[in-house]
Amino acid sequence: MIKPKPLVAGNWKMNGLRASLNEIIKLNDFLGRSAPKCDVLICPPVTLISSIVQLNLEHVFIGSQDCHTNTNGAHTGDISAEMLRDIGCSHIIIGHSERRVGHGEDNEIVNKKATQAQTVGTTAIICVGETIHEYEAKKTLEVIVSQINSSIPSHATAENTIIAYEPIWAIGSGKVPTVGSVKEVHAVIRKVLVERFGNDGDKINILYGGSVNASNAHTLMSVVNVNGALVGGASLKADDFFNIISVYDQFD
Ligand code: PEP
Repeated sequence: MIKPKPLVAGNWKMNGLRASLNEIIKLNDFLGRSAPKCDVLICPPVTLISSIVQLNLEHVFIGSQDCHTNTNGAHTGDISAEMLRDIGCSHIIIGHSERRVGHGEDNEIVNKKATQAQTVGTTAIICVGETIHEYEAKKTLEVIVSQINSSIPSHATAENTIIAYEPIWAIGSGKVPTVGSVKEVHAVIRKVLVERFGNDGDKINILYGGSVNASNAHTLMSVVNVNGALVGGASLKADDFFNIISVYDQFD
């Protein structure tokens, strides 16, 4: 298979009411006029997914921020990957640090959720990242390799899997790792992916996430093995998000 395009993905987290649909419509209009060189995905809260899908937007993929480990059954309040696929999701974020930390999701749970996402035909965006303590103790690479090995199902391909490297201390903090550090971590992720998945491992997109904005996006997206971004706060407004996406216009 050919290498997928880079992806700039927006994670709206628990933000957005029906009035926010205007931001997506505006973003889609911007993208329609500019032919971006990357794919664009928005993962809104689940309450907005159907309304957005019904807009039939040509230039924006729609995804979810989580799914359950099971296909269906007695799991009050939960939502399965199959349901998300059924309402039009193309991607599902799995193992975001706010799920790992806030909901006790370990690598085994992340692996099961990713398997669900892949089985129903969506692309699992599997998040990995170290805490500030692990970073300060220089354990970043050890933690990331372990998360990659344990969280990614053995049948991963470049079509059904994307990795997002998000240092937890960089999320929503305005702090960003050095270019050298991002380069080193992404190179190690690539190495492990190639060891595990061969040719597909070479093509799996690896996103960087953590305080990406219009000012630092060009620098971060230029790093070798950074194949896009996972963006939180700066994805909520169409103008801000489009400025990040537009960075790809400057690449060959
Ligand atoms: C995120 O939550 O995945 C994220 C990267 O957030 P922010 O861009 O706001 O740091």
